[in-house]
Amino acid sequence: MIKLSFHGAAGTVTGSKYLLDVNGTRILIDCGMYQGAKELRQRNWNPPPFDPTSISAIVLTHAHIDHVGYLPRLVKQGFAGEVYCTPPTAEIASITLEDTAHLQLEDAEFRNKKKLTSHEIALPLFTLEDVQAVEERFVSTPYDTWTKINSVFRFRYRGAGHLLGAASVELEMVDDGRRVTMLFSGDVGRYGNPLVRNPSEPPECDYLVCESTYGGRMHPPEDPYFLFAELINRAIAEKRVLLIPSFAIGRTQQIIYMIDGLLRSKMITPIQVHVDSPMAISATDIYIKYRGYHAIDPKLLAGNGCVFESKWVHLHRKRESSQTLNKLGGPAMILSASGMLTGGRILHHMINRLPDPKTLVVLVGFMAEGTLGRKLAEGADMVFIHKMPVRVKAKIVSIEALSGHADWYEILHWLETIKRAPKKVFVTHGEASQSAAMAAHIRENRGWETMIPVLDQTVEL
Ligand SMILES: [Zn+2]
Repeated sequence: MIKLSFHGAAGTVTGSKYLLDVNGTRILIDCGMYQGAKELRQRNWNPPPFDPTSISAIVLTHAHIDHVGYLPRLVKQGFAGEVYCTPPTAEIASITLEDTAHLQLEDAEFRNKKKLTSHEIALPLFTLEDVQAVEERFVSTPYDTWTKINSVFRFRYRGAGHLLGAASVELEMVDDGRRVTMLFSGDVGRYGNPLVRNPSEPPECDYLVCESTYGGRMHPPEDPYFLFAELINRAIAEKRVLLIPSFAIGRTQQIIYMIDGLLRSKMITPIQVHVDSPMAISATDIYIKYRGYHAIDPKLLAGNGCVFESKWVHLHRKRESSQTLNKLGGPAMILSASGMLTGGRILHHMINRLPDPKTLVVLVGFMAEGTLGRKLAEGADMVFIHKMPVRVKAKIVSIEALSGHADWYEILHWLETIKRAPKKVFVTHGEASQSAAMAAHIRENRGWETMIPVLDQTVEL
């Protein structure tokens, strides 16, 4: 008997964890952290609804924290199997998890110092030692190669775009001689992004688990280069500080390369860009190492032409260096994580700069429900950061054109090569309205049977 349980990314976009159980042999697809609303984040502290020691292996789709961020806790609770991932995912996940551990420690210290915790002492969700225990379990697996996990499961990665090394997972299971195939979409990227390749054609399968982050929306046909040129020129003319919450790997590089392109085409004059992230340099090394995974001109990655060595790029790794930015005047740009404003140094910049009408906050990615990013996108004039009220006088701008997620139309385009209808499509990784819309689009356009699982629901395949 095959059982599939949805222990995350069901009714929400974060906390991805899908458990497959074939007659007692179990694997997990993704092991993500919850982000956003407090009740969701609380789940990161609760024991998981399955025994971590009973899981043989974990197959990761990509390195975003909502897909890998629960690994340190699962290993600490006794998970002792392999963690399969593509080579770039292994490196990006290491950096992301180390950075998250580091930022959580900074946050906990800040809360304890300012007495901002309702607990006796604020603790980080995991430490650097916990992350090191995860890294020992990584098994790098390239795209398009079958890997046998055990006598029940084998899988093959297919490029998904979205983020360097991101993949969909094609999975085969044997249940008492019955062969069943599944496809987990992972997060599906967009077409024509220079930083990552287009998503690969998905294979046919018996069951499909499909994401729906933008299941009810279509990205506007904006040109991000023109939008950015306009914002930067405005910041320069009005001496403003552009503050951009940005995932440190992927989005930050995308913005730096865009600015380089705008400078070369003389659409802007130079603006000083401050990358306030301890991991930006390591991230560039990953792009150099995995040239085959993206379409960036190698000349921009190393040597004289390296964009990150440009006079206008300033990297701030240490906390003291980050603090010098508090007094920075415009025109300038600050890029800092986390991308959805769920923690990290960006929060200190927000406390400092949201009350200043000279600040231009540019939101460039998906903002999950309950996050500070979503509140700002929806026009809040007062927000709470570290339990302190902060007035929003800054101008807030959202740019959807830089999204790393396919919209519903692009997901349908991605699914086009699948001719044989799956027995069922499980629509996950979306807020309720988005998943419902994606399921409706799939039913209406393809006639396939869909189901939207609820959190912790188990289905038999
Ligand atoms: Zn993602």
